[in-house]
Amino acid sequence: MKEPRKKLGCRVEIVDMLHSPARTRAVGELLIGQRGTVADVLRGGTLALVELDADWADLPGGVRRWPVQWDDLLICTIESGPDAPGSDYRLGLSGSGRDAIQHAVSTDTKNSLCGEEVYPLHFCGWSISFTPTTKRACAICVQVVREQATPDR
Ligand SMILES: [Zn+2]
Repeated sequence: MKEPRKKLGCRVEIVDMLHSPARTRAVGELLIGQRGTVADVLRGGTLALVELDADWADLPGGVRRWPVQWDDLLICTIESGPDAPGSDYRLGLSGSGRDAIQHAVSTDTKNSLCGEEVYPLHFCGWSISFTPTTKRACAICVQVVREQATPDR
């Protein structure tokens, strides 16, 4: 993770609960799928303090800010330009919640490389790049991206 403090103010969605602190994981089921903003960076940059958008009544214990590990978040960055292989493709999702799979989608279509019907991340549209290295990436999409990144010999 490069320059965690640069992610202050980024829009995020909590998509997993594997690496976050125990206090957060204890209410993980309620937090997954929630959206919010990175309000602070904790523990030397290893955790994001996420301020959730939800109504007070829907927040676990009425607590709005939760420490979440970066790997448990989908981050809507506003950085420009490709910084990783596969970032020519946008991120499309199939399924929902913690079972959502991340697919690669070409700029001019709404179909993923594997032919799945996908939808954009609702809080930031089609602006997120596909990351082949994430553990939720669709295996077929990753393979197609890698084949295209490797020129024929
Ligand atoms: Zn796919």
